[in-house]
Amino acid sequence: MEDYLPLFYIASAIFGAILGSFACCQAWRIHEKQKGRKFGSRSICMSCKHQLRWYDNIPVISWVTLRGKCRYCKAKIGVSEILSELGLAALFVAIAYVFGIAPEAFVLMAALVLYWVLLVYDAKWGELPVVLMFCAIPFAIAFQFFLKGNIFQILLGTGFLTGIYYLLYYFSKEKLVGGGDWILCISIAIFLGRIEFVIVELFLSNFGALLAGAPQVLKKDKKQIPFGPFLIIAMVAILLMRDFLLKFFIIY
Ligand SMILES: [Zn+2]
Repeated sequence: MEDYLPLFYIASAIFGAILGSFACCQAWRIHEKQKGRKFGSRSICMSCKHQLRWYDNIPVISWVTLRGKCRYCKAKIGVSEILSELGLAALFVAIAYVFGIAPEAFVLMAALVLYWVLLVYDAKWGELPVVLMFCAIPFAIAFQFFLKGNIFQILLGTGFLTGIYYLLYYFSKEKLVGGGDWILCISIAIFLGRIEFVIVELFLSNFGALLAGAPQVLKKDKKQIPFGPFLIIAMVAILLMRDFLLKFFIIY
């Protein structure tokens, strides 16, 4: 297996970029559908509606060669596309590095594509498609199955994180956290699988949102910052640092 590791890293980077592009596209697709607009199966430019050819759709490479503009109308495609592709590619490589060629690596990568659609969607439109959040739960259970997680720990962590977010949502009437955040917390907490990790998750995601939200608060911008992306990124960060954190908590 060790001989295949370099190949595994390269494949992870390529698939990460392709699926990062796919996730971005799916987020648009779901959004257009919810707005009742038709969205064909072929990719089109969101500005001039020109149908894109395969060579306009190569992750990262197309964006760089076209300098982030549509080939036909020169409208800006936006940095979110390339960030999505590079971001997921980087995370896939990190997962491959940390978990190696193992079932839990593949489960986490698959779930991350789902989370990526949610992340892009929440970042763009400040909402979380509910169905997708429930779809993440089986992946989380499979992940714990392969890791041989402790069922008591999993239930404790899940009850704690989901409970906190549900109460925040319930009592703040969506002013503090969005209505979907507590549903997202179910799969995230199962993935984390331990109460200690859940506490780190709470700290990391709130810290991230606070940092990102500070400029808006200073400008007295009332726009709510979407919380989903921070929950997702914090979860991935914790899972990648799993061994380190475990050692830390066992010592203390
Ligand atoms: Zn165009």
